[in-house]
Amino acid sequence: MKKPIYPIVQRKKSYLKCINCSDIIISLHRHDFRTCSCYENDSHTTGCFVDGGDDYFRIGYSKENMPASGYGLFEIDYNKGKFRYLEEVPNEEQTTNTDAPTGG
Ligand SMILES: [Zn+2]
Repeated sequence: MKKPIYPIVQRKKSYLKCINCSDIIISLHRHDFRTCSCYENDSHTTGCFVDGGDDYFRIGYSKENMPASGYGLFEIDYNKGKFRYLEEVPNEEQTTNTDAPTGG
């Protein structure tokens, strides 16, 4: 059986940025649990995590290190489960105004 090969795509996604280690993390699919590099599983004294992929945006973090969140453009390789942050983009979900002129 050959594993399906997905193209590397560019997608906009909500992300979490750890204020402690500056890692930017996203969850690629429903069971993709991602932590920043300073996250400690046992103590939860530092770092943050994201989960849920496109189905929901679940996050967790330590009390002292509330992460920043944003909306960015990512280059995503679903085959390897890797992603690369490209740039910040406006969150379209919060500004849905269908009456606005699209311009030229
Ligand atoms: Zn961190």
